[in-house]
Amino acid sequence: MTEERIYLDYAATTPLDPRVLEAMMPYMTEHFGNPNSIHSFGREARRAIDEAREKIAQLLNCQPSEIVFTSGGTESDNLALRGVAEAYRHKGNHIVTTAIEHHAVLRTCKALEDMGFFVTYLPVDEHGLVSPEQVAEAVNERTILVSVMHANNEIGTIEPIAEIVRAVKEKRPDTIVHTDAVQTVGHIPVDIQELGVDLLSFSAHKFYGPKGIGGLFVRKGVRLVPQITGGGQERNRRSGTENVAAIVGMAKALELAVEEMPTELPRLQALRDELITGVLSRIPETRLNGHPTLRLPHNANFSFRGIEGEALLLQLDLNGIAASSGSACSSGSLEPSHVLLALGLDYELAIGSLRITLGRFTTREHILRLLDLLPKVVEKLRALRGSLRV
Ligand code: PLP
Repeated sequence: MTEERIYLDYAATTPLDPRVLEAMMPYMTEHFGNPNSIHSFGREARRAIDEAREKIAQLLNCQPSEIVFTSGGTESDNLALRGVAEAYRHKGNHIVTTAIEHHAVLRTCKALEDMGFFVTYLPVDEHGLVSPEQVAEAVNERTILVSVMHANNEIGTIEPIAEIVRAVKEKRPDTIVHTDAVQTVGHIPVDIQELGVDLLSFSAHKFYGPKGIGGLFVRKGVRLVPQITGGGQERNRRSGTENVAAIVGMAKALELAVEEMPTELPRLQALRDELITGVLSRIPETRLNGHPTLRLPHNANFSFRGIEGEALLLQLDLNGIAASSGSACSSGSLEPSHVLLALGLDYELAIGSLRITLGRFTTREHILRLLDLLPKVVEKLRALRGSLRV
C-alpha cells in the first residue's frame, strides 16, 4: 500500500476549501450574469460582488470602496507600484523597498528603474528584519513610495509595518506606504487601520481561496494610474469583467480563515515549533533561517550545510513529501535565493535550504513522518557528496 502524500508547501498555494467551492458554484452556473449588465442576471452578480467587497473590507478593517479586485498578488503589487509611480511622478522619482521582497515587487521596481525612477533596496539583518529607522532614513524629499512586505514568503519573518509607517510619515507625511501582505492575510491578524498603510496586496489562493483572484486596498485619496484600461470597472482602477465566482470565493475563504484563526494559529505554531526543535536537535550543521519568534506561525526554513536543497526536495518528493527550496535551477547552475543571500548566508548554506510550510490539513503525524525521514535523507545526501569528493 502506498503511503499518503503529504503537502507541506502551503506558502506556495493552498487547496480550495470545499466550503469555498460551495459558495462559488452558483456563480459559475445559474447566477452567471455579467455584473455590469443592468438586467436581473447582472444585478444578481453585482449584488454578490458588493457583498463580497463589504465582507472583505470589514474583515480587513477598511471601506468597501477602498478594495480593488485584481487577478492576484502579482497584479496587486504591480498596480500599487506602477500605479503610484505614474500618478505621483510629478512629485518625485524615488522609491524605497527591501532586498527581500517577492519578485512581483522587485522586478516591478527594476522595470520602474528602466523608466527613470530611482529605487533604494534596503538590506535586512541576519533574521530578515528591516528597522523603521532604516526605512525612514532612506526616505528623502523625492520619495513618493515605500514598499515593505508584511511577512516574507521564504523565511516567514514578520516586518514591523505599523512602526515603519509611523517612522516614514513622521519624516514625510505625504509618502505613500505599500505592504505586500500576500503571506499574512488569512494567516495572522491583519488590521489595515492598525498597520496604517496606504496600499495592501493580498491573494486568495494563499488562504484556501481560488487561484487568479486577489485584491489591493487603496486608501481613500491615494491616486493610481490604472494598469489595465477598458470598461472602467473597479471605479476605473482595474478594467475587465469581474471574476464573480472567484470574488465570492475569496470573501468566503477570508471569512473562514479569520473565523478559524484563534484555534488554527496556535495549532500550527505548536506543530511548527515541534518541527523546528526536532530538526535542529536531530540534524547537525543545520541553521534555522528567519526570525526565531517574529515569524509566520506556519513557516520553518532550514539550511543544511553540504547538500543542495533541490536534491533534498527530490528525495522528499520520492518519499511522498512536498516542500520547497529557495534555490532554483537556472540554466544548469543553482541560483541561491536572493532572500537567503540578503540574510548574509554563504553560497553553500543558501543553496542548501528547505522551506516547510504547514496548513489547515497538516497533522502531527505529518510532522513526525517528516522528522523521521529528513535526518536520513540529509545524511544520505551528505554521504553521497562526501564520497564524490574523494
Ligand atoms: N507576494 C508574495 C509575498 C507572495 O508570496 C506571492 C506568491 O507567492 C506573490 C506576491 C504573488 O501572488 P500571486 O501568486 O497571487 O500572483
